[in-house]
Amino acid sequence: MAAGSGGRKRRRITGCIQKEMTIFNKCLNSEGYSTWERLAIHELFPIKLVGGFIVVDYHAGCIGCSFCISRRHPVWAPAFRSRFHYDPEDLSPEYIAGLLAGMKSFHTARVPVRFGHNTDAWFQWEFGEKLYRLIPPDVPYIMLTRFPVDDDKRRMFDGQPNLLLKITITPSSRILNVRTDPDALVRTANRIPPENLFVLIGPIVRDNLRFVEPLLEKLPKGLWIDIKPLTVEGIPGMDSSFQCDAADISRLKNHAFESGFRVTDYFGCKIRRRLNRPFYKAVDAPDYIRRVCEQCSNRSVCFSPPDFSGIESKIRTAGKSIGLELKTMAREGHSIRFTVDRPTSRGDETFLSETANHEIILTPGRSGGEGGGFCSEDPDIYRRWEQTGMLPFSQLFPHAERIYRKMAAGMKGRADETA
Ligand code: SF4
Repeated sequence: MAAGSGGRKRRRITGCIQKEMTIFNKCLNSEGYSTWERLAIHELFPIKLVGGFIVVDYHAGCIGCSFCISRRHPVWAPAFRSRFHYDPEDLSPEYIAGLLAGMKSFHTARVPVRFGHNTDAWFQWEFGEKLYRLIPPDVPYIMLTRFPVDDDKRRMFDGQPNLLLKITITPSSRILNVRTDPDALVRTANRIPPENLFVLIGPIVRDNLRFVEPLLEKLPKGLWIDIKPLTVEGIPGMDSSFQCDAADISRLKNHAFESGFRVTDYFGCKIRRRLNRPFYKAVDAPDYIRRVCEQCSNRSVCFSPPDFSGIESKIRTAGKSIGLELKTMAREGHSIRFTVDRPTSRGDETFLSETANHEIILTPGRSGGEGGGFCSEDPDIYRRWEQTGMLPFSQLFPHAERIYRKMAAGMKGRADETA
C-alpha cells in the first residue's frame, strides 16, 4: 500500500514537471498560442526585468489615465478593465520573495526592486508592504504611486534606508483629462520622511505647464524631484501636438534647481546614497544630473577613480554565469562595450553593470526590456534566463497564463453581451 501511494506521488510529481515543461515549451515556441497571445502572457508576468529594475506587480486595474505608458502594450487596456489580482492562494508575498531570492539579478547583483510598475502601488499596497518586509535591507525597494498616502501607509517608511516612495503629481490638464487635487499629494509629500521620497512632476503638456511653478512653491525645498514631458511614442491617442517645447521643460528644471530642489531622473540615487552604494551611470551622467552629484553625500563612492584592473575577467565571469560568452571588449569612458553572439536584453546589461560598477553595453543587444517592452524579448533570452537563474520563467508563466485566460473569457463575455 505504501509503495502504491509512493508510486502515485512520483507519477503526480512527474506529471506536474511534464506539464510545466510542456507549458514552457509551448510558450517559447508559440505552440498553441498566437504570437500576440504569447507576448500578452509574457507582459502579464508578476515579476519582470525591465530597464534597470526587477519589477513586481500583483494587481492590474487603475483609474485609466489616457497617457499611462503601460498602454504601449495593448494587453494592458483589457487588463486594467478586468481589475485582476493574481490568485492569493498561490501567489503570496512569501512566494514572490522566494522567487526573487532565487534570481541572480536579485541575490548577486542586488538590482533594485520596483513595485507598482504597470499598476499603481496604491491598488496593491498591502501586498507591496508585506513583500518589502521580506526583502533584505541592502536591496533598494521603490513603490510608485500617484495617489495621496494616508498615515497608515506612511508609517512603513519611517527609518527604512532602502525604501523609497516615488509620487507622481500631474498638474490639472484638459488635454490629458486630469483633474487631480495636487494639494492632497503635496500634503502627502510633506508627511513622508524626505529621505524616503522622490516627487515626479508630469507629464507636462501645453496646458499644465503654467501650474508647475506654483506647485513647486508648495513642496518642501531640498526635495529630490524630476519634471517630465509627455511620452507619446506607442501610446494610443497621445499626440505630439499635446507636447510643450523641450526648452520649457529645461527652463522649469533650472528654475526648480535654483529654488533649492535636487532635479534628477536618477531617482534610485536617493537609496544608493543611504546604502553607500555606487551608481554605475554617475561618471557619464549629463550635466543637469552632475550638479546634483556635486551636492550628494555619495559622491566619493560614485566618483572614486575607476579601477580597471581585473575588471575584464570579472565581467567575463559574470557573463558566463548568465550564459553569455563575451567577445571583443572596448572601453568608452567609464562604460565598457562587449560583443556577443546571441540575443541579449537590457536585463543582462543591468545585471552586468550592477556587478561591475561600470555601465556595460552589449552589442548586438537589447531585444526588449526597455520602457516596458519585456514581452518582446527573444525566446532564446527567456530560455537562457530560466537555465541560469536570472528569471524563473516556467514558474511565472502559469500565473500569467491563468490571468490571461480569465481576461480572455471576460472579453468574450462582454463581446457576447453586446452582440
Ligand atoms: S553621486 Fe550622483 S550618481 Fe552617485 S548616488 Fe549621488 S546623485 Fe547618484
